[in-house]
Amino acid sequence: MSECLNFPDEVRTHTALHIIKGAVVKVLGEGSLWTASTYVSGKHGRLTVTCQSKPSDDEIKRIEALANAKVEEDLTIERIVIPREEAEKTYGQIIYDLFPIPQEVRELTIVIVKDRDGSIWNINACNKEHLPSSKCVGKIALEKPRFRASKKLLELPFNIEP
Ligand SMILES: [Zn+2]
Repeated sequence: MSECLNFPDEVRTHTALHIIKGAVVKVLGEGSLWTASTYVSGKHGRLTVTCQSKPSDDEIKRIEALANAKVEEDLTIERIVIPREEAEKTYGQIIYDLFPIPQEVRELTIVIVKDRDGSIWNINACNKEHLPSSKCVGKIALEKPRFRASKKLLELPFNIEP
């Protein structure tokens, strides 16, 4: 971990959002494909995704375990800058979140977390700073999630350690 100390906490926590999102989609399925909001402050973060029903404790544990497994696997995180049309044609709407990118933005920064088998663990149009690979995220500890039934949203607060 010592080489990881050079990365700001916010960059590690933000990168964790991408790793956790991939795990959420794997465990909860397509109903949780869309990110409604994200929050980062130091080593604390929160991912809010669409969700049709309250996940079980077991599902939350599986999300946490899977996210930590992907951190351990040290997945490569690629960043490409391409014209918006090309990004949409190549990857589809999956690059977007529920909070829109203004139409006047014609060039997108696409962040791709590559799984070990070459498939895409997570892809997102995101212009924030990320780690080059997942290892330096550290350990992800999910806090008690909150399911907002009326909005069909799942809030997943978490902390990274150390
Ligand atoms: Zn990002």
